[in-house]
Amino acid sequence: MVGVSIAWHLARRGYQVTLVDRRKPGQETSFGNAGLIQREAIEPHPFPRSWFDILRILPNRAIDVQYRLTAMVCEAPILWRYWRESSPQAFERIARAYASLIVHCTDDHQALIAASGADALINREGWLQVYRNLDTLGAGIATADGAHRSHGVEFEACDRQQLHELEPALSNDAVGAVWWKNAWSVSDPGGLVDAYARSFLAEGGTFVESDVLSMAPSGSGWTLRLRNGTLTGEALVLAAGPWSIPMLKNLGYAIPMFVQRGYHMHYEPAPGVKLNFPIFDHDRGYTLSPKRMGIRLTTGAELARADDPSCMRQLLAAERAAREIFPLAKRKDDLVWRGARPCIADMNPVIGPALRHKNLWFAFGHGHQGFTLGPTTGRLLAAMLAGEPTQTDMAPFRADRF
Ligand SMILES: Cc1cc2nc3c(=O)[nH]c(=O)nc-3n(C[C@H](O)[C@H](O)[C@H](O)COP(=O)(O)OP(=O)(O)OC[C@H]3O[C@@H](n4cnc5c(N)ncnc54)[C@H](O)[C@@H]3O)c2cc1C
Repeated sequence: MVGVSIAWHLARRGYQVTLVDRRKPGQETSFGNAGLIQREAIEPHPFPRSWFDILRILPNRAIDVQYRLTAMVCEAPILWRYWRESSPQAFERIARAYASLIVHCTDDHQALIAASGADALINREGWLQVYRNLDTLGAGIATADGAHRSHGVEFEACDRQQLHELEPALSNDAVGAVWWKNAWSVSDPGGLVDAYARSFLAEGGTFVESDVLSMAPSGSGWTLRLRNGTLTGEALVLAAGPWSIPMLKNLGYAIPMFVQRGYHMHYEPAPGVKLNFPIFDHDRGYTLSPKRMGIRLTTGAELARADDPSCMRQLLAAERAAREIFPLAKRKDDLVWRGARPCIADMNPVIGPALRHKNLWFAFGHGHQGFTLGPTTGRLLAAMLAGEPTQTDMAPFRADRF
């Protein structure tokens, strides 16, 4: 989503742009996510710091967060930084910057949706943050009210009856919801990226399907060594999601990125039953959303190394919890899908010039909201590359802030 959106904006401005990906556009992390365009997500996800949360997560049986000890040890310096950046004072500053991007997400998506004719993939009815407990529902409504006052997030508080009118198939475990009303959802996230990529081609862009083996400065520009040849250009934008840091290995950048992995599986609904909205089961921590392929269950965060083998435990726990609340029938996929959210220790993405090298630009590390923030990043990065001022202060996203 991020790379395609940047390519689209640059092509729109008249640059001659080549988009390189080893797979077709939108086949990796941007394929398998929950497909929410999260106008309500004005804060990133901090490291859990309350004793209650730490003791809840420590036995490694929580549904929303699981971890592998090997990753905790290997990534300890980055996770330690993530912990420190999640202190209340640091988090307030970080969230302010994060929100400065999020508030533009639907407008920025709209520009690409209109150009690509992708309207049929978009649902603008919002999504439901469902609660099983009246205390957590009350706290959720208070948070939503704050987000409304500070950042124009639209919501409606639903009691049990209102929620069950919206979603008649939910069980009585669901006691209420916050209905995020100006967030959007997508019935086929990979399909949306593909539509944006087609629009990029229609703007005169070129797509090359190849593995980038290395990148090196050449003259005032850059040369990519591809599996099937080389490619030279005046400027290079690196937007390889969770693979961005390995690709930078030989260029001397120390950007503290780690991954929070997640899984998905599709299900049939029980006969005669429909899921009308995406729902996030707040008190368990997974999402169910109606997709073209079936009802997609997506899991929360798994702190593991990017290449560790998949582990079904978190998905199975989420599936059990989901069956308590919604009548899922059989699974539709033979294999579970796995992706990796590219997360920076201070929770803000890196967007801007590389600073140690001329004509190298970075756009990665969008964590839990890269699908939401791709088009906003594309608009801002294209303006920076063109030497234009941006109305958004880009200092919090600089590559040399670490
Ligand atoms: C379970 C789950 C649910 C999520 N739900 C949401 C959600 O509802 N809303 C939201 O906003 N975000 C969500 N996210 C996060 C979001 O999916 C990511 O932040 C986003 O997809 C990252 O986009 P990207 O373009 O940076 O990376 P990617 O989509 O991973 O794209 C990176 C691209 O780089 C290419 N690449 C990598 N290495 C090379 C190479 N050497 N040569 C050539 N090409 C290469 C890959 O093929 C890939 O196409 C979720 C994530 C997960 C895992």
